[in-house]
Amino acid sequence: MLRSIYDTDHEDFRTSVRAFVRNAIEPHDERFAHEGRLDRELWRAAGALGLLGLCVAEEYGGMGVDDYRFNAVMDEELTRAGLAYACALGIHTHVVSQYLTKRTTEEQRQRWLPGFCSGDIVTAVGMSEPAGGSDLAGLQTRATLDGDQWVVNGSKIFITNGASADLIVTAVRTEPTTGRDGISLIAVDGNSPGLHRGKLLHKVGQHQGDTAELFFDEVRVPADNLIGVRGEGFGYMMEHLAQERLASAVCNITHAQHVLEMTRDYVSTRQAFGASIGSLQHIRFRMADLVTEVDIAQSYVDACVDAHVRGELTPIDAAKAKLKTSDLQNEVVDACVQMHGGYGYMQESAVARAWQDARVTKIWAGSNEIMREVIGRSLQLRG
Ligand SMILES: Cc1cc2nc3c(=O)[nH]c(=O)nc-3n(C[C@H](O)[C@H](O)[C@H](O)COP(=O)(O)OP(=O)(O)OC[C@H]3O[C@@H](n4cnc5c(N)ncnc54)[C@H](O)[C@@H]3O)c2cc1C
Repeated sequence: MLRSIYDTDHEDFRTSVRAFVRNAIEPHDERFAHEGRLDRELWRAAGALGLLGLCVAEEYGGMGVDDYRFNAVMDEELTRAGLAYACALGIHTHVVSQYLTKRTTEEQRQRWLPGFCSGDIVTAVGMSEPAGGSDLAGLQTRATLDGDQWVVNGSKIFITNGASADLIVTAVRTEPTTGRDGISLIAVDGNSPGLHRGKLLHKVGQHQGDTAELFFDEVRVPADNLIGVRGEGFGYMMEHLAQERLASAVCNITHAQHVLEMTRDYVSTRQAFGASIGSLQHIRFRMADLVTEVDIAQSYVDACVDAHVRGELTPIDAAKAKLKTSDLQNEVVDACVQMHGGYGYMQESAVARAWQDARVTKIWAGSNEIMREVIGRSLQLRG
């Protein structure tokens, strides 16, 4: 179905992101996967193009774009290069940017945003802990105020860009409370003494991006690195998760589209019993079902992007988009591996890598069980 959310400005931007992918990503993709991380040149190239500071005001070195469709175009093109790129750059551009632009003081914005936009300050967000990621209200990393410094103790796990980040927006408990009260966000400098990074976590897929465990051992952070109001961190996280889930949905559905396209080419040329396997009714029907499902889901995601541009996207609708697209994406990649036969199970085949890359999307950004909880609670069913 013809999509209608983008105009010529978005398509021009797509052309420049594609050129970035062609020049700054594709020639280095194997190396990034081998090294398990992106290099600083890539971050700086993304910064020079304006991708990192897309929604940051121009006075801090950003593009000052207040139209989420540009973020969506960026995600679509990076996803086609590999989900790991959309994830690593996306955490920075679509997730951390919200905290650093909307919850910071003028002094903090001047301190952090120019480097954030240029790629000199790579960022991460540390919420999940070894004892649990779904139950954010149960987080145990603590920060206590000692004079004009916070002293942080605890650990975080599965942190995207965790190994390379220069600034980590870290969720900590600043009050002697339990539950969602008393959680604050503190920006921790990546070079802080006492901050130890575990070795790169060995993921099943998305090998180009780094994911790490972080250990905070008496880490001293200036008091004015507190983001927003003390004790309000849980509310901020819940508010900003909607955009993270939308970004996730945009990537998931693009990934499904992309894998279907490559599979369409494959089944058109692969021969069995004297004809292409695409001419077999079973394959044609399976492809027809998947293409239909993906097109319908794409329309829903586009409607969510549109709603977000108007400031009307609800957390429930974002949760529905994340839930549906990640389930569908995983159904699609699995079916496409099947249609590739044995070649689909080989590490060097693109469809096998897509299958490995996709599995996490049902787990991260709030697992799909948590999405069902969020959506189910909104129904206010009576017991
Ligand atoms: C590659 C990768 C990158 C990530 N990047 C980041 C990052 O940058 N920053 C960050 O903070 N975190 C990140 N995460 C962490 C991610 O958000 C968590 O893994 C996720 O929230 C789930 O938490 P958990 O792994 O602790 O699982 P758990 O919370 O232990 O859950 C285990 C299982 O129990 C289910 N479950 C839990 N509670 C319920 C419930 N109430 N009802 C039904 N089922 C439930 C879950 O759905 C899951 O299936 C990343 C994870 C991965 C794998």
